[in-house]
Amino acid sequence: MDILFKQVRLKDGEELKDVAIKGGKIEAIEKELKVEAARVIEGNGKVLIPGLVESHIHLDKALIADRLPNKSGTLQEALKVTAQLKPTFSKEDIVDRAERTLQMLIKNGTTHIRTHSEFDPSQGFTGFETVMELKEKYKGIVDVQVVAFPQEGILKAPGTEKMMYEAMDMGADVVGGIPYNDTPWDKHIDLVFEIAKKYDKPIDFHQDFKDGPEGMTIEYVCEKTIKEGYQGRVSVGHLTALGALPKDRLQPIIEKMAEAQISVMSLPATDLHLGGRHDEYNVRRALTPIRALRDGGVNMCIATNNIRNAFTPYGTGDVMLTAMLAIPAGHLGGADDLPTVLPMITTNPAKAMQVSGYGIEVGNNADVVLLDTESVTNAVIDMPAKLFVVKSGKVTVETKKSTEFLF
Ligand SMILES: [Zn+2]
Repeated sequence: MDILFKQVRLKDGEELKDVAIKGGKIEAIEKELKVEAARVIEGNGKVLIPGLVESHIHLDKALIADRLPNKSGTLQEALKVTAQLKPTFSKEDIVDRAERTLQMLIKNGTTHIRTHSEFDPSQGFTGFETVMELKEKYKGIVDVQVVAFPQEGILKAPGTEKMMYEAMDMGADVVGGIPYNDTPWDKHIDLVFEIAKKYDKPIDFHQDFKDGPEGMTIEYVCEKTIKEGYQGRVSVGHLTALGALPKDRLQPIIEKMAEAQISVMSLPATDLHLGGRHDEYNVRRALTPIRALRDGGVNMCIATNNIRNAFTPYGTGDVMLTAMLAIPAGHLGGADDLPTVLPMITTNPAKAMQVSGYGIEVGNNADVVLLDTESVTNAVIDMPAKLFVVKSGKVTVETKKSTEFLF
């Protein structure tokens, strides 16, 4: 064996297990394995989870918060400030920031990433190419899916439609879209589906990012998904406007979303920062209705979106921190809710991203993280250190922690 984890916890209330890894795969899981291994890691009852999945992140515009502040904290100023900064990004600058961000994610136990990489006719493909290069460079350390993302719209930014096809030819894994930043929005959605079908790739929309319910297009996305036979291959991020609907209007949309098998990435780090900025009292949380979607059978994920820029001026690269934000904000701290949070940053986004061989089962890929906690239920709220990260059967990160009381 290459690696043997001794006595780790896979589920609360179950006996501890040994987990053996060989040739990049999980070879055996037993109460006690009497096998030789090149590296033996003592679990001592600590929790072993499948690698964390960061299903919505912008690597190319991370770590720029200190360059030009977003003083109002609104989406409008975030867009303005970022548009001002973009022309100053050199290739070296993007490489440096994107790679540092990627390493922050890896350090925190992330083994799978979906990143939205943007381009437009005035900026060209510099950021997109950089992210594609990093994807190659980090093969075997982290799996990166790159979304071809038309941040400035497709139809209202002439030349972008051609660039969408070029990005797919350059190897993008997913077709991105942003109906709320384009007009006409239905043509935008149709075009994204047309490109996705041509290249046989999944779709990931930035969707209905507003405090109020006006101008939502999620129902059209559902209809289109079903019509095109794209069930299970469409994801949407933000979807905050859905949180503004009363139950009688919300429920039929959730049913439609479940039927279309659409996955949702809630992005609380950004949504809580930018949302409700025009409310003077009883400020809205401006999140997608996580519990209602989950209970309605929608595949619910939590992701980070941005780290330290005008949209999200904080973040450490730990998706557990993002999930922690969602716990009080999304009322997910109850006894029945808390155990559903860890899957929102592991198995659910793996499903949304159609990752094969994911999860701690014999024969699956050996992508696992040993956490410094003994409770699976409390794994997120404990904010544990990621003691060992294993990707494709190799230890990629080891964290050593030492604290002493000096009183
Ligand atoms: Zn985003």
